[in-house]
Formats: sequence, C-alpha cells, structure tokens
Amino acid sequence: MSKAAAFAAFDSTAPLAPFSFERRAPGPRDVQIDILYCGVCHSDLHTVKSEWQGTVYPCVPGHEIVGRVSAVGAEVDGFAVGSLAGVGCMVDSCRTCASCSAGLEQYCDRSATIYTYNTKDPHGAGPVTYGGYSSQIVVDHAFCLRISDGVDLAATAPLLCAGVTTWSPLKHWGAGKGKKVGVVGLGGLGHMGVKLSHAFGAETVVFTGSPSKVEDAQRLGADVVVITSDAAAYKAHAASFDLIIDTVSASHDLDAYTQLLRRDGALVMVGVPEHPHPSPGIGKLINKRRTIAGSLIGGIRETQDMLDFCAAHGVVSDIELIPIQRINEAYARMVKSDVKYRFVIDMASLTAG
Ligand code: NAP
Ligand code: ZN
Ligand code: ZN
Repeated sequence: MSKAAAFAAFDSTAPLAPFSFERRAPGPRDVQIDILYCGVCHSDLHTVKSEWQGTVYPCVPGHEIVGRVSAVGAEVDGFAVGSLAGVGCMVDSCRTCASCSAGLEQYCDRSATIYTYNTKDPHGAGPVTYGGYSSQIVVDHAFCLRISDGVDLAATAPLLCAGVTTWSPLKHWGAGKGKKVGVVGLGGLGHMGVKLSHAFGAETVVFTGSPSKVEDAQRLGADVVVITSDAAAYKAHAASFDLIIDTVSASHDLDAYTQLLRRDGALVMVGVPEHPHPSPGIGKLINKRRTIAGSLIGGIRETQDMLDFCAAHGVVSDIELIPIQRINEAYARMVKSDVKYRFVIDMASLTAG
C-alpha cells in the first residue's frame, strides 16, 4: 500500500479539497505511476456534482492521466520503472466477452467495465476507484497506455479522454477526405474533434455558441465556423453533412443538427448533459434515413492507436496548466464555456508549498 495525496469532492456542492487515501501495492501485473499531469474533463464536473446520480463521496475524479512508472510487477510487459505511461477512462473490464475481445472494453457485454473513478473498486482498496487528481495510481498493465518520448506531456494528457472520445466516432463513421464533418461545441472534446477531423482530411465545420472562439476554431483546423445563433448559416448547410459530432454538455435542440445531415448521415452524441434533450423530430430522421447515434470514449487498442497517431503528427491539446488549488475556479469557468481548451493539472502542485 502507498499513501496517495489527492483532491476530492466530499459532497455535491462543496468545493474540492485535499484528501489522502491508500493505493494498493502493485500486484504481479500492475504498474504504479507517479502522476505528472491530469486533464480536467467535463465528466469530472458532472460526477462531482452528481449530475448523473450515483456519485460516491469522497470522489477523486480525473481520467486523463500521464505520468512516470515508479514500480512494476514481475509479469508486467511493455513498461519499466522510469517509462512514461498514460491512463484514460478505464482501468479494467471482463476482458473475455465479445466486446472486450474486440478491443472495445467500454462496451463490455457483461457491464464489467471498471472506470478510473467512481466505480466499485474490485481490489477493495477503497469503496470506489479513485482517479487522477492524485499523486499516484496503480493499474493493470493491460489498461496502461504507452506515451512516446519527446511529446509535450501536459498537452498529451487530454488525449486520454477528449482525444479518444472524438477519435473513435470519427474513425467509426469514416471521417476523411471527401467527407463533411461538423463538430458542435468547442470545448475540450470539441477542439480535439476539430484537430483530428482536420488531420484526417475531412471538411470540418465548427458550431459554437461563443463568438470569442471563432478565430481559434479556424486556427485549430475548421474550414467554416458557424455561430449557433446564425439561423441563415444553418439553412445554407442544410442536408450537407456526412457526420456531426455533438459534444455539448447541456441539453439543446437536436433538430437543428439532424436537418443538416445528408442522406444516411449520422449525428453522433458524445456530450452527456444532466437533463435530457428535447425529443428529436422523427420526420427529420425518416426523411433521408438519418441516424442519431451515441459513442462512449474508446477502447484501449484504439486509444493507443490515437496516441501513436498524435505523437507522429504533432497533435496535442491546447491547454491551460493550473495548480490543483485552482480546480474549483476551473470548474466554475467550465460551466461558463470559458475553457481554451482544456485545463490540465500540474500534479507537482499537490505537494508543493
Ligand atoms: P467542455 O470542455 O465544457 O465543452 C463543452 C462545450 O459545449 C462548451 O465549451 C461549449 O462550447 C458548449 N456548451 C456548453 N454549455 C452549453 C450550452 N448550455 N448550450 C450550448 N452549448 C454549450 O466539456 P467536455 O469536457 O468537452 O465534455 C463535453 C461533454 O461530453 C460533457 O457532457 C462530458 O461529460 C461528455 N463526455 C462524454 C464522453 C463520452 O464518452 N461520450 C467522454 C468525455 C466527455 P461553445 O463555447 O463552443 O458553444
Ligand atoms: Zn472525460
Ligand atoms: Zn467484457
């Protein structure tokens, strides 16, 4: 066992505050990682505020983890003390069902996915798993990701969730040259969606409610930027998209986007708002055989593929590095869509001062 320093939420309304707990001693297949950086995902905030119900307190969020290996078990493959390593949204699953065997552990057919935080801890070190707002983590090597030497580690951390959550649907729905892709919401997920869609060669259109983000959207790779209040622009893009990825963290009208899809186009929901969206109009779906789909993070194999692609192509997140003591301020800004474009916690701040 090792004592981890952390920040935790103690109930759904109080600010996050210091906390300490025990990590399990690494078993034969475990990797222990000293956490250097952890990204701040809107899912952390939804969970801390129990907007999805079922949060167990204290809650230590964080699933965009990059660090350095400090211990390995005897049977660990591919990681040694001193290697860089990443941990994303999952730390285990059943590993044998059809979905796990296909490398899609997030869709485990036995619903046995163990998320990095707020899932019953199968090792019993705590009541639930504790995430990356902490000094170290112990994870089975099968759920550890390799991080290439020479990348910007802080700016790579958000790839572990925001990167793969947009990579996975872009790949699954075939974004690339000759395809027109929309990204709704320019936050953590959205800005990675724009960078990846652009890198895949798709014509990329951003829909943002924040006029202050227009220039950034272009710099990030958008060919066109539409402000969500511009009804004429929505008309001009009618029935023209192959794929739209909706990353918005609040409920909103979906018809505005389904009617932008061409025949057989898909609106893929990745945002998970606290309150339901208004029911979409069925007429807009049957007309042109359009689809509304959902997509959850990405499997371990595709996360590694994404990290390797990003390292090779110089793709990282645009970040604002913060000490952990500013986490509550970061959450307040995230609620106001004032994020450019991912907060990342410098974990050295946990023990500094
Ligand atoms: P984020 O950084 O806060 O970005 C969300 C963006 O949505 C905002 O920047 C804003 O973009 C837009 N937005 C926010 N409130 C809005 C409102 N009331 N009306 C219209 N637009 C609004 O959040 P994130 O970390 O990217 O996460 C986005 C959502 O995805 C969250 O619900 C999160 O829980 C979910 N998520 C899902 C998965 C998955 O596997 N499916 C994985 C990770 C996160 P503009 O300023 O451009 O309008
Ligand atoms: Zn996330
Ligand atoms: Zn499974």
